[in-house]
Amino acid sequence: MAKIIGIDLGTTNSAVAVMKNGELQILENAEGNRTTPSIVALSKGGERLVGLLAKRQSVTNPKNTIFSVKRLIGRKWSDPEVQRDKAWLPYEVQEGPGGGVQVKMGDKWYSPEEISAMVLAKLKADAEARLGEKVDEAVITVPAYFDDSQRQATKNAGEIAGLKVERIINEPTAAAFAYGVNKESNQKIVVYDFGGGTFDVSVLEIGFDPETKEQTIEVRATGGDTHLGGDDFDKKIQEFLVEEYKKQEGIDLAKDPLAVQRLKEAAERAKHELSSATETEINIPYITSDANGPKHFQIKMTRAKLESLVQDYLDRSVKLTEEAVTAPAPKGAGFKLGDINEVLLVGGQTRMPAMQEAVKKLFGKEPHKGINPDEVVALGAGIQGEILAAKKEGRKTEGEVKDILLLDVTPLTLAIETLGGVATPMIPKNTTVPTAKTQTFSTAADNQTSVEVLVLQGERPMAADNKVLARFMLDGIPQVEVTFDIDANGILNVSAKDKATGKSQSVKIEASTNLSKDEIERLKKEAAEHAAEDERKKELIDARNQAESLAYLAEKSLREAGDKVSEEIKTGVTEKLEALKKVKDGEDKAAIETATAALSQEIQKIGQAEYNKGNGPEENNAGGQGGAESGPQPEPGQPQ
Ligand code: AMP
Repeated sequence: MAKIIGIDLGTTNSAVAVMKNGELQILENAEGNRTTPSIVALSKGGERLVGLLAKRQSVTNPKNTIFSVKRLIGRKWSDPEVQRDKAWLPYEVQEGPGGGVQVKMGDKWYSPEEISAMVLAKLKADAEARLGEKVDEAVITVPAYFDDSQRQATKNAGEIAGLKVERIINEPTAAAFAYGVNKESNQKIVVYDFGGGTFDVSVLEIGFDPETKEQTIEVRATGGDTHLGGDDFDKKIQEFLVEEYKKQEGIDLAKDPLAVQRLKEAAERAKHELSSATETEINIPYITSDANGPKHFQIKMTRAKLESLVQDYLDRSVKLTEEAVTAPAPKGAGFKLGDINEVLLVGGQTRMPAMQEAVKKLFGKEPHKGINPDEVVALGAGIQGEILAAKKEGRKTEGEVKDILLLDVTPLTLAIETLGGVATPMIPKNTTVPTAKTQTFSTAADNQTSVEVLVLQGERPMAADNKVLARFMLDGIPQVEVTFDIDANGILNVSAKDKATGKSQSVKIEASTNLSKDEIERLKKEAAEHAAEDERKKELIDARNQAESLAYLAEKSLREAGDKVSEEIKTGVTEKLEALKKVKDGEDKAAIETATAALSQEIQKIGQAEYNKGNGPEENNAGGQGGAESGPQPEPGQPQ
């Protein structure tokens, strides 16, 4: 029974959930954690690191540590958001092919899809290790506001990592899924998702049919701010700390990049602590030095101070939430605040008590805190994965999961450019997907031989102010019927038909920053090769570790053997030990394994000799541990 894992591919952290033995579970990664930093790095030693190991070295290697790549995925270089991000991202960013974005790691440029694929490949490998089986299919979540190319690019990242992306679903929908599992009534829900990089608010309706026991989840409105997140809180704290230190010591730490990185980590830690404590002390030893020698950093910070620093952000998120709920459609859901039955908190930052208070004040009720805010989105994706897997296999869903009908909406209006550069809406924002709209284009008027069609996504009235999704030419035929089809993933497909003959026309889409099929295939191969290379490296390290343990054991046994063991045996062991020492740090795995096996056999002779002399294995270390089977060996699959 093949599993479809659910992946929350977050801006700062990612998580994986799956249905296992009838229970929905978060899968721990190789490091034993339930979330994985969405960070990739090339270490100073030239090794590719993903997750916690990448995060840990970011302080000393900021230029080659790629984080928050979700901000760039599927975006155009000219996008104002990209221009804004490139100013503060510590790694290099440049315009990529087709007007997209590229980031630099080491001396190579990568597309954001490739970087995301590296994170996904780790999530996949770790999930496989936990499950003890291969995983080839996934459901991946994206923010509700992600446009067509961001969704497509995320899907491509999955494919590069060797995952067939069965479905892209909106993060708030996934959260509601996780929440809606046991609810048997109609509900209006707000998902307030404050993560590390973005704030995303969604208004959903869960419908329940008591007869069929079927649930539907419909996204009624989405809103938020793509540049508001927990990172902004960290920055505010960091600035405050720099100012305080300047006042205290007269030293400007902002000029020292290493000090800034250390302050950044300390700021985030302090923020976390202030979610449970009302005061914390920030201690950073040896932050800088002056004429008198090294200096430490030591400043107290109260919860009240933190709240005053970020009050504007809290107010802003509350205002955006109110707007999404109460503004008339299509901007908002057109509900009253009092209509809302439940408010779900998603994203690590919602652990901040003042944030919970602000949400409570707005709705006049306690937000729902029953589900871990870091895991709820992945759990929802896991549920969707189980539903899709069950459907594929023609079986019933396992455990608590019911077959929920998912009705998602398009986050942005799909329009086409018409005369005078006007954007004419075709599929308005918040239309339930999948959906399709057909439009007839005429090339016959004014003796034209071809007509250019520009497909746009966005809410602005003029074409030029919106994002160009596709540009294509229709030629030769008087009347062409073009169908714009938004699938369940929120991804646009365009097809065309000659009205007179009913024959399909191919539509070649240009103006897309997304990778071509060939490019995806090439990158997929590269990623697979890299994974194989990683596996080889891991096996080599395992072999070396085993050799190391055995060599240690052999030396110990020889030392302790005394006269209980014949010189002949001792010489045999010594010879094999020397042979192993020669190869054990080399690259030849087979040679290491052969030498290890040979030594292991020799050592057994020591144990045997001692046993024969009536010195049982319990009383003697060499005998007891001397047998290769019982010797200390690194557990396979452990992170090295
Ligand atoms: P996410 O993107 O959902 O992983 O959220 C990550 C954000 O949540 C980061 O900005 C974290 O610093 C923040 N965060 C995690 N735990 C806490 C906590 N206990 N208190 C405040 N913020 C937190």
